[in-house]
Parts: sequence; structure tokens; C-alpha cells
Amino acid sequence: MWKNPNNNKKTSEERAKMLGELASKYGLVCWYCGFDLEDDIHIDHIIPKSKGGSHTIENRALSCKRCNMAKWNYPLEDLKAYHNHIRSRYYDSKI
Ligand SMILES: [Zn+2]
Repeated sequence: MWKNPNNNKKTSEERAKMLGELASKYGLVCWYCGFDLEDDIHIDHIIPKSKGGSHTIENRALSCKRCNMAKWNYPLEDLKAYHNHIRSRYYDSKI
């Protein structure tokens, strides 16, 4: 059966839905640096697809363009430590 290559792309509706869910979960801030997101919002894979990360919402996070680009410079273990650092800082500030 002929496959449309665009089938793999998220539609803008699906993207908007995921963005809404992530924003209500974490706030409309970059998950890595905590900056407020206005435009140029990226929906990042926390564990990259190339490392077996899934497409589910648990593995997705909102990110600014800068962090989305920068994270590829770090090995996964460093990135995990960095995530935990940022997350604890974020949650501490909410308590
Ligand atoms: Zn950021």
C-alpha cells in the first residue's frame, strides 16, 4: 500500500494539543532554562528519538530554540543531570 510520507508528521492540531498539555503541566516556560516562552516554541524529545526516546507526552517538553539547539552538544548522562538540576530548581521555586 502506498504510504504518504506526511503521515509521520504531526499535524498542527496535534502539535497544538500537545503544546497545551505540556503548558498546563509545566507552564509555558522552557523546560531546560526556565525562560518564558513566547514564540518559536519547540516541543522537544527529552530522550532523543535516536536514543530510543518515545513520542509520548512523558518524553516531551517545551523548549526554547536556544536550548533545543544546545542540548545536542551534551552526552545523555550530562543532560539527565542538567534536567534534574533545572527541574528541581523549577519546582523549588513553585513551593
Ligand atoms: Zn531554554
